[in-house]
Amino acid sequence: MNITKKCNTCKKDKLLICFNKGKNYKFGVRAECKQCLKEYRKDNKEKIMKYRKDNKEKIIETRKEYYKNNKEKMMEYHKEWYKNNKEKISEYHKEYYKNNKEKISEYKKEYRKDNKEKIMKYRKDNKEKMMKYNKEYYKNNKEKMMEYHKEYNKEYYKNNKEKINETRKEYYKNNKEKINETRKEYYKNNKEKISKYYKEYNKNNKEKISEYRKEYKKDNKEKINETRKEYYKNNKEKISEYNKEYYKNNKEKNSII
Ligand SMILES: [Zn+2]
Repeated sequence: MNITKKCNTCKKDKLLICFNKGKNYKFGVRAECKQCLKEYRKDNKEKIMKYRKDNKEKIIETRKEYYKNNKEKMMEYHKEWYKNNKEKISEYHKEYYKNNKEKISEYKKEYRKDNKEKIMKYRKDNKEKMMKYNKEYYKNNKEKMMEYHKEYNKEYYKNNKEKINETRKEYYKNNKEKINETRKEYYKNNKEKISKYYKEYNKNNKEKISEYRKEYKKDNKEKINETRKEYYKNNKEKISEYNKEYYKNNKEKNSII
């Protein structure tokens, strides 16, 4: 059985399917048919826009109320919509991001600045969740993240060279003994590993090293001479001892020559 209803506007008898749903109306549909509504909207565009503008809050409130009362239905609807438009949405987001990079970055910065405490509180309250999420993300994006870190560090170092070097120097000065102790300890415990690493490195970078040495010698002639002299002065006996030893052990070789 097809129930019909007379449209209040065009006065035609139409099937219920031709009317929009309306909770508070007879038969659960609105008084005017879809066609009339469409025409009305077309003819009254500006009036409708003005109404929307003038009643913004009321409309938002109504929507919220509706959403609250139809949560599951709406969630289901959104899920369905998202599922059916996944690629389109992702494409749209990418495109939007590409075209609004600076705006977005600016907005994010602004947001972080204005919500510092909120963000800190959220981080504190969700420590484990965040850590888990970060770990998961890092695991799934290892190469990307490594690339990003490298790039970031490089950029940061470039922009803060002096500051970093100053801090390093300062730290080294204030923690000399501790650092030396740690180094010694580390060296002692990793002797083989380190030696192997150096050998490997020397083998693979022969030319580079030789080039670097030459360069260094050229640039530090005086310093090197000074150091040599200093060393010689401070180790006279040791050197003389060593020379004697060497001479004794190579006597025959020397005599042959
Ligand atoms: Zn009608």
